[in-house]
Amino acid sequence: MMQDNQSMLHLYVLGPGVGESIVIRLPDGKWGVIDCFCNKGGSSQSSIDTFDFLQRKHVDALEFLCLTHPHHDHYSGMIQLLENLRIKNFWQFPEMCGDDLLYLLQTFRQTSKEHEATALGSLLGLADRMRKQKQLDIEYVRGVSQIYPTSVTIGGSSPVSEIAIWALAPSSGISADYRSKITACFDKDYRLLSKAPRHAYHNYISIALLMMYGDTHILLGGDTIIRSWKATLQKIDNKSILSVDFVKVGHHGSANANDLPLWELFSSKRKPIAVITPFVSSRLPRQNVLKLIRQHSSDLISTCPEVLEPRTRERYDLSGKNSQKKLATLKKLKCHSYITRSSLNTGICHVRFDNNGHGETEFLHIGNNFSETL
Ligand SMILES: [Zn+2]
Ligand SMILES: [Zn+2]
Repeated sequence: MMQDNQSMLHLYVLGPGVGESIVIRLPDGKWGVIDCFCNKGGSSQSSIDTFDFLQRKHVDALEFLCLTHPHHDHYSGMIQLLENLRIKNFWQFPEMCGDDLLYLLQTFRQTSKEHEATALGSLLGLADRMRKQKQLDIEYVRGVSQIYPTSVTIGGSSPVSEIAIWALAPSSGISADYRSKITACFDKDYRLLSKAPRHAYHNYISIALLMMYGDTHILLGGDTIIRSWKATLQKIDNKSILSVDFVKVGHHGSANANDLPLWELFSSKRKPIAVITPFVSSRLPRQNVLKLIRQHSSDLISTCPEVLEPRTRERYDLSGKNSQKKLATLKKLKCHSYITRSSLNTGICHVRFDNNGHGETEFLHIGNNFSETL
């Protein structure tokens, strides 16, 4: 028997093809958000962004807001949430504040991502001002540590809470490597001394969270890569806690974030439900990763279901005189590059769990009657 809907844990995964956000309704009716994306100024009519979604749910306060790492597809529009909602806890990737933040922003400028540097600077600048005015509690998250509930009793038993959230990654070692690699690129006047790290390097410090609701274990991987998981696993004696019921697939289904040992661990007791948010312009998810996840999950769903379909010849419209040429090109690409973002049908993956590891999935289409289905 499933519990009644109100006392369940609800996860809403949003992702229009680029960008990702997880909105969580806790069993006590409070809300939390991990990462954010925004459609404003974008052309896509077929998706709903994080702030719109929260407004339609009449949410005006968040228990927590988490920014897993400094990539634009995870923080675009997050400043709107800070400006418009009451936020109790802001969980941020570690190390980068004060001067270090300025170095970080410089790395974006060096890779011609000026607008991303400006957006990230505004967001973290506002968060820091709110912290100084005691309007916001910022936690620079490192694994492995419990971050929710926020109050703990030292030396005694922990306060009773239905939900516990642990940060599994990034480890302090990886964070220190990341910080020194970035700061070593610049002199004290923020001038470049050596080549800035590649844009993908920022995934090194992605936060990964484990949410526990009774016997239900939920893994929210951000863009955490395998190297970071390995550092985390060294710190966990009881690895069976990572036998989980739900996985938000790490880094949009890239091979850097998903391998056989990890998925064997995630599925070691029972096969979890997996949700994937693509990043189509980087041709993610990869086909071989999808195959791996299919073998180790009870159900694999995506915010853009199209990327999960088998790539049959018919899909490419190979009729007509250039069919051989088209086929040759597609064989060369091997991936999803034929899908453009505007052509995607996107929706929301809604998963609800009781506290016994039982989950139900539902795909919410975004159409005219969308507000009713929410
Ligand atoms: Zn990402
Ligand atoms: Zn990323």
